[in-house]
Amino acid sequence: MKIYVIGIGLIGGSIALTAKELNPEITIFGIDSNPAHVEEALALGVIDQGALFDDLSNADIVIVSVPVDITMTLLPAVLDKINDDAIVFDVGSTKSLVCEAVANHPKRRNFLATHPIAGTEFSGPSAAIAGLFKGKTNIICEVEKTAFKLQEKALVLFNAMGMRIRYMEPKSHDKHIAYMSHLSHISSFMLGKTVIEKEKHEQDIFDMAGSGFESTVRLAKSSPAMWTPIFKQNKEQVLEGLEEYISNLSHFRDLLVKDDFDAIYNEMKNVNKIKEILNGMKK
Ligand code: NAP
Repeated sequence: MKIYVIGIGLIGGSIALTAKELNPEITIFGIDSNPAHVEEALALGVIDQGALFDDLSNADIVIVSVPVDITMTLLPAVLDKINDDAIVFDVGSTKSLVCEAVANHPKRRNFLATHPIAGTEFSGPSAAIAGLFKGKTNIICEVEKTAFKLQEKALVLFNAMGMRIRYMEPKSHDKHIAYMSHLSHISSFMLGKTVIEKEKHEQDIFDMAGSGFESTVRLAKSSPAMWTPIFKQNKEQVLEGLEEYISNLSHFRDLLVKDDFDAIYNEMKNVNKIKEILNGMKK
């Protein structure tokens, strides 16, 4: 089997490493606009060979793992190139605009819209991790628009990687993910900004960073090149979540100004139930 990965970074590279580990017979071809990433991916064994866009007609599976704005323009061109039996799936963090971009493509039935909910704050081929997706959820949108036998090809790979599958409409996906992921990133970026601006000497930050700060600000290390198009594509849903979040922050500030520590205690006590919610998600 020949798998072509376009964008050999964290997600594309992790799928490549995992697929190869599961089945060494698979040949992984890498296509990336960054020649240094192709070299690095070869050196790290993330891909078996570099490839060109014109080679896509040889692919059994094509994985599009580039920033979501690029996915929108790249995907129709990828579908133009592939053979009739190939399945193409993207892994982008937004789904509505990507699905719209290929809605009328003659090869729409060769495309599956997916979003594996797994990742780290790092990027590029060196960030790729074999087994990253084990036990993680993969959200699939508009599954009925993909040819059944081609869905199966992708599902065999997702199941072998240990992923749980959830089906969703693109708009629902974008709404839920705005709260679960996009808001967390904004929160982390802006917490990082607040502390950097306040603390003049970086050493002070490092000295005290062993606490909750380091875990809360982890996502602020994420790539702006990946996140700017996500916020652009999911602007409406993100704005809605952001309004609610800002309102909660203002409420907390007001309670503090009023010395209403009973209310502050109760606020935190109520949110403590996130423990059970998260434990339930892991089962
Ligand atoms: P990444 O590590 O930065 O990898 C993306 C790769 O694509 C980079 O090597 C990048 O090169 C390359 N690239 C950029 N434009 C390209 C083009 N026109 N043609 C070919 N290659 C191109 O990013 P990632 O974290 O794997 O994210 C990839 C996709 O996965 C995104 O759509 C993202 O929304 C989605 N996703 C990410 C996460 C996460 O936690 N990171 C989780 C789930 C889904 P340069 O770096 O030189 O631009």
